[in-house]
Amino acid sequence: MLKRNYNSRKRILVTGGAGFLGSHLCDRLLEGGAEVLCVDNLFTGTKRNIEHLLANPRFEFLRHDVTIPLYVEVDEIYNLACPASPIHYQHDPVQTTKTSVHGAINMLGLARRLKCPILQASTSEVYGDALVSPQAEGYWGNVNPIGVRSCYDEGKRCAETLFFDYNRQHGLPIKVVRIFNTYGPRMHPQDGRVVSNFIRQALYDEDITIYGDGSQTRSFCYVDELIEGIIRMMGTEEGVTGPINLGNPQECTVKQLAEMIVAQTGSQSQLVSRELPSDDPVQRRPDITLAREHLGWNPSVDLSEGIAKTITYFEGLLGKKARQMQA
Ligand code: NAD
Ligand code: UDP
Ligand code: UDP
Repeated sequence: MLKRNYNSRKRILVTGGAGFLGSHLCDRLLEGGAEVLCVDNLFTGTKRNIEHLLANPRFEFLRHDVTIPLYVEVDEIYNLACPASPIHYQHDPVQTTKTSVHGAINMLGLARRLKCPILQASTSEVYGDALVSPQAEGYWGNVNPIGVRSCYDEGKRCAETLFFDYNRQHGLPIKVVRIFNTYGPRMHPQDGRVVSNFIRQALYDEDITIYGDGSQTRSFCYVDELIEGIIRMMGTEEGVTGPINLGNPQECTVKQLAEMIVAQTGSQSQLVSRELPSDDPVQRRPDITLAREHLGWNPSVDLSEGIAKTITYFEGLLGKKARQMQA
């Protein structure tokens, strides 16, 4: 199914390229020999994530907001621009919807003018508080259209609609991946996501904040494997549009994750319960049959192994053994 060597010398646009996933994607594309144009307004991304790339002559950074039209010349587009953690996307919910919807329109317009393939980083959130598990691509979801998460969920759903309408109406080559919870180095330590919160709290011996009773589940994918899946998706034949789920089906409860992180850090932290945010999905696990079939993609990094690598990254970022330094 894979069409060609996707790593040939192309000029590739990565929106959201200074973020967690985007910066890893830039790394991998550059390693493969491409030229990369990274477009980011640095809302949640940081220059630190890409500073090691700034001296590379094949890398270019442009500070720009994708809600504003963009006229550049590229061969492929990966559209990742959008805050992804609940505290960030709920900080300015109107801007979040604009980023997903206006951002998609502009990037699709750009792709249409250039007649180039464009990949959308969609999300498992399109399934909302799913009534089936695992979630397969044929499931239409259970999303509250007016809740606090809706700016993100509905924005991403609308972006998917736009992608498929550009495909049907204008024959644009599109690729849509639905990404499930992903973790690893370069996550923002203050982004409020569960992995970054728990590791930071554990390293400082602070209380580990479990929202609700911790029985809700997530399935966590290690970042390197997720990026491989995204790049493989771009490399598929034109007829393969997706949506295709990308995630690691290894499911665990939030409480189990907390216990694993406490054990791995040797932390003195206590698990404490906090109010469950509204519309928090109860169960999330990807069905990745299509990804296996079309991409030959099968994530294999065990959660404990990936968490160990992420803890090492956070120790470096927060000061070697932040916890011990406090003592
Ligand atoms: P992130 O917040 O680290 O990265 C998003 C990047 O987009 C940031 O660098 C931010 O500054 C930039 N951005 C935001 N609004 C922008 C705008 N209007 N114009 C230009 N740039 C803008 O998040 P991430 O985890 O790297 O997520 C990247 C993409 O993947 C997002 O689209 C997200 O919805 C999707 N996704 C991520 C996950 C995950 O678990 N990390 C899961 C599902 C989907
Ligand atoms: N656009 C862009 N860069 C381009 C081409 C288009 O940012 O190179 C934006 C443009 O501002 C437009 C949007 O993409 O509003 C959608 O473009 P399209 O051609 O699909 O529709 P239009 O609105 O131009 O009829
Ligand atoms: N969560 C938690 N404590 C935290 C942060 C998050 O218990 O400090 C829970 C949250 O309620 C959710 C899960 O962990 O059930 C994953 O949250 P995250 O924000 O990482 O991602 P999402 O909800 O978007 O999947």
